[in-house]
Amino acid sequence: MLKHEKSKELYNRALKSLSGGVNSPVRAFKAVGGTPIYMERGEGAYVYDVDGNRYLDFCCSWGPLILGHAHPDIIREIGQTARHGTSFGTVHENEILLAEKIKSLCPHIELLRFVSSGTEAVMSALRLARAFTKRDKIVKFTGCYHGHSDYLLASAGSGLATLGIPASAGVPEDFAKHTLVVPLNEIDSVEEIFKKYGAEIAAVIIEPVPANNGLLLQSRSYLGFLREITREYGSLLIFDEVISGFRVAPGGASEYFGLIPDLSTYGKVVGGGLPVGAFGGRADIMEMLAPLGPVYQAGTLSGNPLALASGLATLRHLEANDSWQKLDMETREFVQSIRKAIKGIPVNVTTIGSIFWINLQPTTATKAEEILPENAQMYAALFGKALESGLYLAPSAYEVGFISTAHSHEALSEAAEKLSGIIKSLF
Ligand code: PMP
Repeated sequence: MLKHEKSKELYNRALKSLSGGVNSPVRAFKAVGGTPIYMERGEGAYVYDVDGNRYLDFCCSWGPLILGHAHPDIIREIGQTARHGTSFGTVHENEILLAEKIKSLCPHIELLRFVSSGTEAVMSALRLARAFTKRDKIVKFTGCYHGHSDYLLASAGSGLATLGIPASAGVPEDFAKHTLVVPLNEIDSVEEIFKKYGAEIAAVIIEPVPANNGLLLQSRSYLGFLREITREYGSLLIFDEVISGFRVAPGGASEYFGLIPDLSTYGKVVGGGLPVGAFGGRADIMEMLAPLGPVYQAGTLSGNPLALASGLATLRHLEANDSWQKLDMETREFVQSIRKAIKGIPVNVTTIGSIFWINLQPTTATKAEEILPENAQMYAALFGKALESGLYLAPSAYEVGFISTAHSHEALSEAAEKLSGIIKSLF
C-alpha cells in the first residue's frame, strides 16, 4: 500500500484555514473517497506527492499541461519574462504575439480578448452575445460545463426542454430562468425551444467536444444543425473550446468539424498551465466591447505577461513539433490497446484528439442522460486501484483523461496494461 501520511496531515491542517480544505471542490476527492493527494512537484508526464510517491499523470491539471509538467521551453520563457517584471497593468507586446498566434491557428477568430480563466471568458462572451442580439435567453446543454458564473449554473428541470433552475445555492431563479437547458444530440428539443422562444434567444452555447460529463462526442451533422438554426433565428452560436481548443486540432473543434461559430471561448492549453482565458470571433461582435463599444469587460491581471509567455511558448512548441498529430496517434494507440485487452467487458473507452474517457458501462453515451449513475461508485474503485499502481486519473467518474507530449510510448503501453487489468478486476 502506498503511504499518504503527509498528505493526510496537510489535509487536516488545510481544513482549518481553507473552506473544505481546497480551492476547487473536486480536489477534495469526495467522489472517490480518501484524502486528497498533495503534490510536491511535476516533471514531464509524472507528478510526485509529498510522501514520495510517483504517478503517471492523466489529469494534467485538468487539461492545460499539453506539454507535461515543467517543460523547459515554458519554464525558460516564464523565467525570462519574470525578470522584467510580473505585471504592468499596461499593454505589452506578448499580448499581440499570442493573439496573432491564435488567429493564425484559428483563422475564424477575427478579434480576441484575454482574461484569466475559462469562466471569465464564457461569462464575457455571453454578455457580448446578449448586447449584440439585444436578447436575454441562452440555450445550453445538460452535461456541458461552462464555468461557475451565475447564468451557467442552471440545470434542466423535468421535461425535455426546460427553463433552467439554479444548480447551485446562491443563484437567483431570476437569473437561471434566462437559461434554457436541453439534452445534447437531440434535434427535436432544440427545434422545439426555438419555436417557443426563438426571438428571445441571444445564443446557443455548447462544448463542441463535451468533456465535462464524460466525453459525450457529438456528430458534425448535429453541430452543423446548431449552426444553421442559430443563423435562421438570428441567435449567435458560441463554441466553448476551453478544453477542445488547441487540443483536438491546432484550430480546436472548429477546425476538427469544419464549423465556424460566431464566438469562441478558450482557456486551459492557451495558458500552458498559467491562468489565461480568451474569447473572440466575429469582428462586428467583438467591436462592441469597451473601449470601442458599450459592453463593459475588464481585468487587472488580464493578459498577464507571465501567463501569456507560458501560453505563447506552449502554442509555439506544439506548432514547431507537429505535436497534435503525434498526440492523436499516441492516444489512439493507448485507447486501442485498452479496448483490445478488455474486449467482452461492458466498458467503453472513448477518445478524440489527446482526450480519453473510461466509461464504465456497455453502451456509448452522447448525452448526459445516458450515463448510468451507478458508474460513479465503480469509478471510485478504479481510481483507487490506479492510484495504488502509480497512475493518477482525475478524481471523478465524469472527468476525462488527458495525454501530454511528455507521455512516452513506453509509459503509455505500460499504463494501458495496468488499466486494463484493473478494469477486468472490477467485473
Ligand atoms: N468551459 C469549459 C468547457 C471547461 O471545461 C471549463 C473548466 N473545466 C470552464 C469553461 C471553466 O474554466 P475555468 O475553470 O478556467 O474557469
